[in-house]
Amino acid sequence: KANAQIEEKKHCNIGTIGHVDHGKTTLTAAITKILSKDGLATYVSYDEIDRAPEEKARGITINAAHVGYSTKLRHYAHTDCPGHADYVRNMISGASQMDAAVLVVAANDGPMPQTREHLLLAKQVGIQYILVFINKADLVDNELLELVEIEMRELLSDFGYDGNTVPMICGSALKALNGDESDFGAPSIRKLLKTMDEYVPPIVRDLKSPFLMPIDNAFTVPGRGTVVIGTIKRGIMKRNDEADLLGFGYNIKTTISDVQIFKKSVTEALAGDNVGVLLRGMKIKSVETGMLLTATKSCQMSNHYKAKIYFLTRSEGGRKKPIFSKYSQQMFSGTWNIACRIDLDPSMNMMMPGDHGEVYLTLLEDMVMTQGQPFTIRENNVTVATGIVTDTLK
Ligand code: GDP
Ligand code: MG
Repeated sequence: KANAQIEEKKHCNIGTIGHVDHGKTTLTAAITKILSKDGLATYVSYDEIDRAPEEKARGITINAAHVGYSTKLRHYAHTDCPGHADYVRNMISGASQMDAAVLVVAANDGPMPQTREHLLLAKQVGIQYILVFINKADLVDNELLELVEIEMRELLSDFGYDGNTVPMICGSALKALNGDESDFGAPSIRKLLKTMDEYVPPIVRDLKSPFLMPIDNAFTVPGRGTVVIGTIKRGIMKRNDEADLLGFGYNIKTTISDVQIFKKSVTEALAGDNVGVLLRGMKIKSVETGMLLTATKSCQMSNHYKAKIYFLTRSEGGRKKPIFSKYSQQMFSGTWNIACRIDLDPSMNMMMPGDHGEVYLTLLEDMVMTQGQPFTIRENNVTVATGIVTDTLK
């Protein structure tokens, strides 16, 4: 047996999303204030969160605050962004891969355009768990609260979430932040935290799917052969398993002769393990960083993908001119890059810097790209766009 423990991940990435001014930052501050009383968080004030530092994420500047706090059950890393554009960029670039999101909606406004847009993005980038916090409950009566809840359930269903089961908590982030102990004050925040703990399951490693490992490195062991290094993303890899080495147009059949964890041979290794894998009959020059080692016949390569993309504005270092179909540049993802053509959705004539939308990618060679995989597009060594794969096309 591999010595790796199948541990439940005691950590969860979460974030506040929703329309501007609906109370995302106030809620974030209120959470830290309430948990700080139990010694589970350091209180982070509204101003500290909103003065989010500029972040260099894959060469793109995103303003985002990362606030850490714990409940009795687990640790959360919470992302709150100051502006709408920051959310779009943050989510599309996958800069903070959220396991769950708290969708904040102000009861006096109901769902607004950015409520919809963030929900759409959440679905497209694969955020599985949404919780709704109906905020500013202090400003409306109960009938209106119920109406907003009904509207939100319909909206969630429209975007492919299960509107019937998504938890909804009514409250007032501002009251809670001001230390109010009435129903809509601090108790509503405690209820939200309890729901987060219960509704979002612990993130567990996928041991059921066929194994998949991106290649980080490769070297030759004299007298033995080629060893590839990487972290198994999913599944279980066993000695003598048949495997495919995929990428850059190549699909090379091989067999796993040996698996090592911390330089010791094991009969199997699990998702999450960092391993060295000896591949039978493999030539070192056939292996390139960015290729994948997969269980045989478990992955399809393609050079056509659908993606969600954001073109940086001039002031973000992007282009100044619009983008038309057949736009060809170098794509970067993880440790590899490849020539790529971008075609716009047929409904669109062009995209301007600052725009985001759906595009079609054609890579020079077949690769394996998975849903949610982030990438950037560079033009003359400057990042002009960032995106995330949403679908593999034939
Ligand atoms: P964000 O843009 O979503 O981050 O919203 P903010 O947290 O900046 O809040 C926008 C405004 O709404 C601020 O003036 C807050 O004080 C106010 N606000 C936030 N939560 C509540 C609430 O529960 N009740 C009331 N009445 N106002 C709130
Ligand atoms: Mg804010």
